[in-house]
Amino acid sequence: MTERTDIVIIGSGMGGATLAAALAPSGQKITILERGQALQNTPACRDATAIFREGAFRNDETWDGPDGKPFNPGNYYFVGGNTKLFGAAFFRYRREDFASLQHLGGVSPAWPIDYDAFEPWYQAAEEFYEVCGAIGDDPTEPPHSGTYPRPPVPHEAPIAAAAERLAKQGLNPAHLPLGVDIDAWLEGGETGWDAFPNTGTGKKDAESIGITKALKHNNVRLTTGAQVTRLIAAVDGRIKEVEFTEGGRPHRIKPGLVVLSAGAVNSAALLLRSADEAHPTGLANSSDQVGRNFMNHNTHAVLSLHPWRKNPSVYQKTLYFNDFYLTGGPEDRPLGNIQLLGKITAPILAAQTRLPMPAARWIAERSVDWYLVSEDLPHPESRVTVRSERIVLDWRQSNWAAHEALVARFKTILRRAGWPIVLSRPFDRTVPSHQCGTARFGQDPKTSVLDIWCRAHDHPNLFVVDASFLPNSAAVNPALTIAAQALRVADHIKSKDLAA
Ligand SMILES: Cc1cc2nc3c(=O)[nH]c(=O)nc-3n(C[C@H](O)[C@H](O)[C@H](O)COP(=O)(O)OP(=O)(O)OC[C@H]3O[C@@H](n4cnc5c(N)ncnc54)[C@H](O)[C@@H]3O)c2cc1C
Repeated sequence: MTERTDIVIIGSGMGGATLAAALAPSGQKITILERGQALQNTPACRDATAIFREGAFRNDETWDGPDGKPFNPGNYYFVGGNTKLFGAAFFRYRREDFASLQHLGGVSPAWPIDYDAFEPWYQAAEEFYEVCGAIGDDPTEPPHSGTYPRPPVPHEAPIAAAAERLAKQGLNPAHLPLGVDIDAWLEGGETGWDAFPNTGTGKKDAESIGITKALKHNNVRLTTGAQVTRLIAAVDGRIKEVEFTEGGRPHRIKPGLVVLSAGAVNSAALLLRSADEAHPTGLANSSDQVGRNFMNHNTHAVLSLHPWRKNPSVYQKTLYFNDFYLTGGPEDRPLGNIQLLGKITAPILAAQTRLPMPAARWIAERSVDWYLVSEDLPHPESRVTVRSERIVLDWRQSNWAAHEALVARFKTILRRAGWPIVLSRPFDRTVPSHQCGTARFGQDPKTSVLDIWCRAHDHPNLFVVDASFLPNSAAVNPALTIAAQALRVADHIKSKDLAA
């Protein structure tokens, strides 16, 4: 007999875990199907060589590029999803990101709701993920209805000095909003947390917070190693069954409500793979927008160094500035966000660049390491498709001129601020770490996949709550916005009794 449950949540990452925790007190029977397993604490978790050279936590699947060439995507399949390795930067989109905004490379589209309507959910998400931060240093910071629940993670001495150098250049360095308990993190080892897996409570990720909260309720069950392969729609459009494999065996479950939270690429692929006679181009796809508008930020690593000044920081990732977020480019267009990376150490640098270890050590002992993020704009041909069941990702990276202008501007600033050596390199295109946009939400069923509550226009009992819903990528890290949307959608589902 096929099992029945009130709510099936597919994926336990930022969207799925947050929504599961928010719906758990309803008492409804919630089943979370997660393809990965819980990430175990092993020596590799704090071993930079294992992580960055050997890819200890990478998956073994391949996707195809538009040319048919397979590549191994840097997408993480564990309980908690990509947040297990994330940098825990919990940014709000800026107020301007909710309206349409002209960039050098085109227009960033508006959201169907404005910042003020979304703000309470940002506040709730910051409280949920116990975000550490301080309001007031960044002029682009949008209004907050409350304060950050925790004080900022302190700058290490070289970073406090870097903040002073930047301030002398007329910039506004600010504390990164972070989901990190720094003492708990450092107890596990003297490393940064960015791209290192979390196995305790040091990082506030979708598992350590979201899933932990959800599983306190007896009505919530998490099934790991359960890969969803297909959604089956009834003639009235409702999703009547969810098909998955567990331990190599096929299973089906009958849901009252389905929440798809498999991440922007896998959610789109699953909808496309679920095509049937009534929905020949895939489920939720009467708009033909599923899989389109794929975005992933334009990013660079920039290393600044002075030959006689060492940077003994352990974690480093506590500072950002947004002085070029809304202006500063040619025609005064937006350029992007600049934040610190986790401390780049010699093994990380050697693994990423193949530099000999002595050279990597000389650089890493001195470098302050930055992460530059510019907005990628949606384009209908930038898309996820499925060919013979395989995922094909054709990312049409956009707005690159703005990103190059950001890198150039920052290099000049760094040299003026006392770092004579500046090295830079774009991030690998095969790492879709900020993937989004493949099932955007909107008012119009002709141009969007989801309604303003992330419910599929075409299927009354199907919600998509992960990075897919984002109509634009802004130029800040997406996790807090996904979590805020999950809390908002959960509240809607509860208040309307939609899982009844
Ligand atoms: C190295 C790294 C650093 C990052 N740093 C930051 C940061 O500092 N700040 C920030 O805001 N963001 C950061 N991100 C991005 C952030 O982690 C993602 O935006 C966020 O996790 C996306 O949430 P999601 O719910 O869309 O997907 P995910 O969190 O990836 O969750 C998707 C889940 O679905 C599961 N799944 C997939 N397919 C199936 C299937 N068919 N059946 C069942 N389960 C399935 C996956 O295993 C996964 O658990 C980082 C990402 C990476 C990789």
